Amino acid sequence: MYDKRKFYVDGQWVDPLKANDFQVVNPATENPIAVISMGSTSDIDRAVAAAKRSFASYSETTIDERIWLLEKLLLIYKNRYNEMAQLITLELGAPITMSIEQQTHVGVGHLHGFIDALKNHKSCEVLPNGDTVRREPIGVCGLITPWNWPINQIALKVVPALAAGCTCVLKPSEFTPLNAMLYAEMIHEAGFPAGSFNLVTGEGAECGSALSRHKDIDMMSFTGSTRAGIAVSKDSADTVKRVTLELGGKSPNLVFADSDYEELVPATIRECFNNSGQSCDAPTRMLVERSIYDKVLGIAENIGLETKVGDPQSEGVHIGPLVSHIQFDRVQALIQAGIDEGARLLVGGVGKPQGFEVGYFAKPTIFADVDNSMRIAREEVFGPVLAIMPFDAEDEAIIVANDTPYGLAAYVQTGDADRAERVSARLRAGMVHINGAPHRYGSPFGGFKQSGNGREGGAFGLEDFLEIKTIHRPSAA
Ligand code: NDP
Repeated sequence: MYDKRKFYVDGQWVDPLKANDFQVVNPATENPIAVISMGSTSDIDRAVAAAKRSFASYSETTIDERIWLLEKLLLIYKNRYNEMAQLITLELGAPITMSIEQQTHVGVGHLHGFIDALKNHKSCEVLPNGDTVRREPIGVCGLITPWNWPINQIALKVVPALAAGCTCVLKPSEFTPLNAMLYAEMIHEAGFPAGSFNLVTGEGAECGSALSRHKDIDMMSFTGSTRAGIAVSKDSADTVKRVTLELGGKSPNLVFADSDYEELVPATIRECFNNSGQSCDAPTRMLVERSIYDKVLGIAENIGLETKVGDPQSEGVHIGPLVSHIQFDRVQALIQAGIDEGARLLVGGVGKPQGFEVGYFAKPTIFADVDNSMRIAREEVFGPVLAIMPFDAEDEAIIVANDTPYGLAAYVQTGDADRAERVSARLRAGMVHINGAPHRYGSPFGGFKQSGNGREGGAFGLEDFLEIKTIHRPSAA
């Protein structure tokens, strides 16, 4: 059992101002693995004060100095890579192979993406009218991250904040705090100045809200549910701070009859189930051209039956448990809603898979004949649940794909290059993947509509942490 009750503030591990213990649970065994502290508004005040003090000098560091620090962090991250992978498996339940190859790997990829962006960054430019535009760090940033891709979201916020010359206070999810604490150790070891990075664990409603409302926080960067994103925006409104949000998704996957669907459909279903379905950009709504609908359902059923649930500590390509009993109950309720609303259950259903009575394991579940008005088509399930529906024409598919409050990702499978471009242009989503193309490091990640605002990763992600200053000088006579 880890004792991780301290916060990282002003370059040191400090006790909370008032003790308030919380047990972190292994979702595969339901056993406690660590005790952490739930911070209070006073703990947030102390961390923000440290970040504010540090900003005065850290914002003056040069780009070269910051590149040097980030490169050191990358080296340390690589040295402690396996430790990170083990922690993510322990607290999130991500199977160890997936944790090594994906969850932990993204931490390396994003660091490279931001180091490259910083190397090419122009902090000053002269406009054709003679005025100068400077890009300056926005100030002290509050960063709130969820549990589903924990180090991914931490890297997408902490790294650009520090790269831009901002200082920050991170509040990770209390379900997965251990990877964040290891990241804090790495930042310390890399030699970032005291106060430039601070970490306080605690509940969203108290610590998260205290950050959003804080008068000395200049920007909030949040990833999580749309509900909490709205709360962060409202809490931030009185102090008119910048808010960037990366929220949920209900991403459509359009499968046309002219595609190589025998290859592409299995790959997108595996992607939907990856991380036990706990990914905001997962292709969870599959729209299939009617002429191939029955064939695709056959493929889907096979992939669903083939998908293994397994112990996160075992190597292999199985999926693990959901993160918590709250998430398990939420997913069960939505599977039940799919059944009640009349969708056809192809694979899976409510309850735990056989042999997995302990732990928050859910059955990989596929529904056919889903109507886009059903809850399983409209709400983010965040579990291994796929909804499939037929369409007759391209226009209809686009209308249904866009008929969602979300707009994070979209997926298009077609053998017709013109159609791929035409459909991509009409989809209201922040990212469109054609024929299985992955998201690449350095490219902007983020969504339209209620999937949020702002973009994370590379140069676009850096931009969010910068303010623009125009310098007007008297024109030369
Ligand atoms: P939340 O959005 O509640 O949690 C994400 C983070 O926000 C956590 O650190 C949480 O802290 C914090 N938070 C919660 N409420 C507030 C608040 N009022 N002010 C500031 N911060 C807050 O997600 P849940 O864990 O409850 O998951 C619910 C659903 O959200 C999932 O089923 C999924 O649909 C979606 N989700 C989407 C994610 C994405 O990547 N876009 C990531 C995670 C969830 P705390 O845990 O202490 O409340």
